[in-house]
Amino acid sequence: MAKETSRTTDRLYRCDAIVLGRMDLGEADRILTLYSRQHGKLRVIAKGARRPLSRLGPHLEYFSRSRLMLARGRDLDVVTGAETEDAHLAIRDDLDAFGHASHIVEILTRLTEDRQENVAVFELLSSSLRLLADGVDAFHVTRHFELALLVLLGYRPELYHCIDCRADLPPAPHQFASTLGGFLCDCCRGREPGSRIVSVDAQKYLRALDRGGLSATIRLSIGNSLREELEGTLGAYLRHIAERDLGSLRIWRELRDGSAERSR
Ligand SMILES: [Zn+2]
Repeated sequence: MAKETSRTTDRLYRCDAIVLGRMDLGEADRILTLYSRQHGKLRVIAKGARRPLSRLGPHLEYFSRSRLMLARGRDLDVVTGAETEDAHLAIRDDLDAFGHASHIVEILTRLTEDRQENVAVFELLSSSLRLLADGVDAFHVTRHFELALLVLLGYRPELYHCIDCRADLPPAPHQFASTLGGFLCDCCRGREPGSRIVSVDAQKYLRALDRGGLSATIRLSIGNSLREELEGTLGAYLRHIAERDLGSLRIWRELRDGSAERSR
């Protein structure tokens, strides 16, 4: 009997998680993509979550932060219990907040690997969704999320020196090269395809965000063209990283499958 209990306990574990995405499975089940404090990104099954009287369903909505009980499964782990900690309900009533929250979870889904624990990333996601639910300017919250995520995942862009020759950057428009992850001085510019010229104001905003976080930028009133420029610059860099990493994962899989083929 004691043995049986310990086996059951081994199979079950708790985690705090935020719902990033979900997909219908069969008649009434759902596959959820979660970002958890304890295990990073996870894909799990919630059985019967689409039934009208499901106990689990209401705790597994988009952007909800919940305490979950999971049971290890052969393929995907299974949700056996769920309790909402913060539903971030206001996000669903505000189109702008909803759009930005969707963007945040998409970036996180694309830039992280399954089961790589990173508590700081979980906290960043949680606090960003909380700010969006509180109605804080979604533009500033989202740019802060993007830059902070890049830093936490080891992709901090070089904002102060030329990424190539390390020279100080004088206050002038400079080229940002996503492929290199930073600005280029006038001597080094022009070599990188897909790079863009970034204005002095946009550079100042990025440095303020880097040095002082959201509190340094939240009160800045900035016009639409600067907003678009910042969104475009960070977006191009994020896309480059997501595509490059997905590319390297694909190459790794091909190599692995190729060598498996040969060793047969
Ligand atoms: Zn240079």
